[in-house]
Amino acid sequence: MTLDLYKYVASVPDFPEKGVTFRDILPLMANGAAFKQATDELCDYAKDKQVDMVVGPEARGFIVGCPIARELQVGFAPARKKGKLPRKAVSANYDLEYGEATLQMEADSIKPGQRVLVVDDLLATGGTISATIKMVEEMGGIVVGCAFLIELKDLHGREKIKDYDMKALMEF
Ligand code: 5GP
Repeated sequence: MTLDLYKYVASVPDFPEKGVTFRDILPLMANGAAFKQATDELCDYAKDKQVDMVVGPEARGFIVGCPIARELQVGFAPARKKGKLPRKAVSANYDLEYGEATLQMEADSIKPGQRVLVVDDLLATGGTISATIKMVEEMGGIVVGCAFLIELKDLHGREKIKDYDMKALMEF
């Protein structure tokens, strides 16, 4: 039986601020069948891409990315918020509504020529995923696809990653 994954996304008005509707994926993760279906569908998307590594940004990119890496039998490398990694790191800045933020990856986490699937729960403006892609490429990785549970169409993140193949399971 195929589940309607939209039923497992809670839309929360006025979070984190007035006028914004937050798409909460925790109900999807809390349902074993829905979580399995969602990650299986993203694995299907990736299966012919000869992926060597999965990369996901903190924090929900870890939750969605790790089961995909395990299923594809490849490694997972996290893109973390600044200051969390103990060893040499590469960094990339991205814009927030007010100001900037920085993501970091361990500098040897992707080897030159590795084929990388970048995964996050949701594509909004595309800032987070673009910063993640930038670090992967700085290390010599080849981004072969970007996979999301959700794309927020109005924020046009897709345009920021138009040079890359992408898949989102749901659109709002
Ligand atoms: P972007 O950088 O594309 O503007 O924002 C995407 C990032 O912000 C993702 O890492 C995602 O986890 C988080 N994010 C932004 N809006 C939402 C939302 O409505 N729901 C969820 N689950 N995450 C969001």
